[in-house]
Amino acid sequence: MTVPQATKYAIIGAGIHGLSTAFHLAQMLKATGKGSGADILIVDKTAVAAGASGIACGVVRNNYFQPAMRELMAHSVDVWESDAKAYSYHPVGYMQISPECMREDVASIYEQQQAIGYESVFIDGAEASARYMKGLFDDWQAQGITSVLHEKRGGYANNRASMHGLAAKAEAEGVRILSGVEVQSFEFGSNSGAITALNTNHGRIACETVVVGVGPWVNKIWNLLELPKTITVKANGKVRSDVPMWKFWCLEEGTLGVDPTMHRTNDGRFPPVLHVDTDAPLYSDRDGKLITDKIWGIYYKPDFSFGGVQGGASPYKVDQDPDQVAVDPYGPDSPEFVVGEDFIDMWCSALAHCQKRFEGQMPLYKREENSGGLGCFTPDNFPVFDLFRENVYVIADSNHGYKMIGVGKLVAQELMGEKSALLEPFRFARFAKGELHPTSHSPFPWS
Ligand SMILES: Cc1cc2nc3c(=O)[nH]c(=O)nc-3n(C[C@H](O)[C@H](O)[C@H](O)COP(=O)(O)OP(=O)(O)OC[C@H]3O[C@@H](n4cnc5c(N)ncnc54)[C@H](O)[C@@H]3O)c2cc1C
Repeated sequence: MTVPQATKYAIIGAGIHGLSTAFHLAQMLKATGKGSGADILIVDKTAVAAGASGIACGVVRNNYFQPAMRELMAHSVDVWESDAKAYSYHPVGYMQISPECMREDVASIYEQQQAIGYESVFIDGAEASARYMKGLFDDWQAQGITSVLHEKRGGYANNRASMHGLAAKAEAEGVRILSGVEVQSFEFGSNSGAITALNTNHGRIACETVVVGVGPWVNKIWNLLELPKTITVKANGKVRSDVPMWKFWCLEEGTLGVDPTMHRTNDGRFPPVLHVDTDAPLYSDRDGKLITDKIWGIYYKPDFSFGGVQGGASPYKVDQDPDQVAVDPYGPDSPEFVVGEDFIDMWCSALAHCQKRFEGQMPLYKREENSGGLGCFTPDNFPVFDLFRENVYVIADSNHGYKMIGVGKLVAQELMGEKSALLEPFRFARFAKGELHPTSHSPFPWS
């Protein structure tokens, strides 16, 4: 492998954000006559799709309580739809099925979706919701549901296939992607804080602009950039200093090894991705014991690439100093951050709670395949897209980001000198200014 000694644009990470930025930037450089994909180098310490993008469930939805997130997601859905084949995207739609404590939040999401022209249907009330769901699935039996938001756009994409599709599009534009090249430190300019070179395990690469798209490794790169470990956050009229910039959550997902075609709608179609939250008590489908009487949530979809019905439940907070969290080996290879029996019991029982077809299926859960993985979150659990040290663009999606394929396009526009109104609400300065995003009643940290 020959590693260049210099590049104009150095992108760290070949996940959704690094690849999307590279592809769109290459197109924009060419269109404006300012350069081409040959000016862009992506380095990845492992390979394309080695991080969170390669293990993501792949759900693409608009359902967000935060207006800025919704507008950004609508933009990303346009990008998914622009080349569904290359991105391995399945536009089956998405449903948020909710209990009473979330009804008002979800109603407001629906209203604002109408305002931005994002097609969806809102079903209000317990009886109407049950009727609507039984119209789709005659074995529907979830309890405690009082509203349904049915997004007609969105759906899911196949994680690794979409990353390789995106990588091929970037390479076709002349972008170079180097696997096995790890950034180990940065070289700082003598008269400014700008980065002049990446020091890697394959030598020094001088660069003019750096884009960081390292997903769960962002805490490590942030430290190498000598950015603050703790920050000031203004929220609800209070100012807190020394808030840790990063924290980890572990995502819990898995696959029920059934024939994916068993989960279809009454009229034989592949269903929307279902996300169900409820405060109805959840009992084990294995032994009838109470699993929880607090609000819980799951999501699921039939997925041939996972070989069954795949999905997940609420993540759990990793209660460790972020510098001590073992991000490597990542995902299914981690000895620590993969799902265990509690998740399997909860998720399979929750499936059975929602639809009769899943009753008694827990033995088919794919125990032989490890699943789950870490996500790295900001203080308010929403992304930071911003420029640091004059020439380092950090894309830190706070684990929202497989669906955000359009962010790379907007970042590329900003690198070309055009500010993006859609990215503006995600600047780092929002923490100190107290311009945080509103929070919802969802049990998930990313809704
Ligand atoms: C189990 C799970 C399920 C998820 N499901 C969904 C979902 O359904 N929908 C959704 O929208 N989001 C989902 N997410 C979140 C989403 O996957 C991430 O937010 C997103 O993929 C992050 O993309 P990224 O490009 O920033 O990083 P990644 O995809 O993690 O890529 C980062 C890359 O950087 C490389 N790298 C790291 N450090 C270095 C270094 N020092 N030098 C060189 N290379 C380096 C890594 O090898 C890796 O390939 C899920 C996350 C997890 C963990």
